[in-house]
Amino acid sequence: MIDLLVAGGGPAGLATAIHGALAGLEVVVLEPRPTPIDKACGEGLMPGAVRRFEELGVPVPGSAFRGIRYVDGATGLRAEGLFRAGPGRGVRRTELQAALAGRAEALGVRVLARRAGEVRQDADRVGAAGLTARYLVAADGLHSPVRRALGLAVPAAPGRPARYGLRRHYAVAPWSDLVEVHWAPDCEAYVTPLGPDRIGVAVLTSRQAPFDVQLADRFPGLAARL
Ligand SMILES: Cc1cc2nc3c(=O)[nH]c(=O)nc-3n(C[C@H](O)[C@H](O)[C@H](O)COP(=O)(O)OP(=O)(O)OC[C@H]3O[C@@H](n4cnc5c(N)ncnc54)[C@H](O)[C@@H]3O)c2cc1C
Repeated sequence: MIDLLVAGGGPAGLATAIHGALAGLEVVVLEPRPTPIDKACGEGLMPGAVRRFEELGVPVPGSAFRGIRYVDGATGLRAEGLFRAGPGRGVRRTELQAALAGRAEALGVRVLARRAGEVRQDADRVGAAGLTARYLVAADGLHSPVRRALGLAVPAAPGRPARYGLRRHYAVAPWSDLVEVHWAPDCEAYVTPLGPDRIGVAVLTSRQAPFDVQLADRFPGLAARL
């Protein structure tokens, strides 16, 4: 019987798998998508996350940033906060996931290209995807199918509109070593330095519209710069 079965090979699942392997457990990860996995994301790791990855022995690539700058989309008014305990890092999701997967593999974690599917459990074991384990961790994302299937999902707060994530990369030298958060009442844009000639722009919005329209309507100053 496996010690620990992890559903999902994103950052949470692979970090959990590495913790388990470092604790001496036999760990199997179920992840249907091939490495490197991409996802719409601001791609900014805060200093605490950078430290955690270092503790797990995961080399984090990318570009350091010193803090966060908030920019009002309408007026351009800005406020900045600098980190006190070391920098954050801007890193492409694909590179972060590949680094985590590499560390997990080096520790003997097996990754199987399968979905968790139906989960069965009794007092001392849990079964999924044809495997039996002492424990199962559901790290299968924000809308976790495993959590939903087990009846553990928490209903969304009433009155909160759904939000959509969009993301694009630009071959542009970063103009700042801060992550910029541009904000408007229904939309935020995160600008993250990812390397000497690459930035990422992620938009979180409650309005359904294409990426260019979101930027042009809500953050014309940022759109002009890009
Ligand atoms: C627009 C946007 C910007 C963001 N910006 C930032 C940021 O700058 N910094 C930051 O730290 N966070 C940011 N986040 C949040 C961050 O992306 C998430 O917190 C993070 O991806 C969660 O990781 P996870 O491993 O829990 O889930 P995911 O990354 O979603 O991974 C879940 C994995 O589970 C797999 N899976 C799904 N179903 C099953 C199944 N049945 N069986 C097996 N596997 C399954 C999926 O294929 C997937 O690979 C942002 C999010 C959005 C939307």
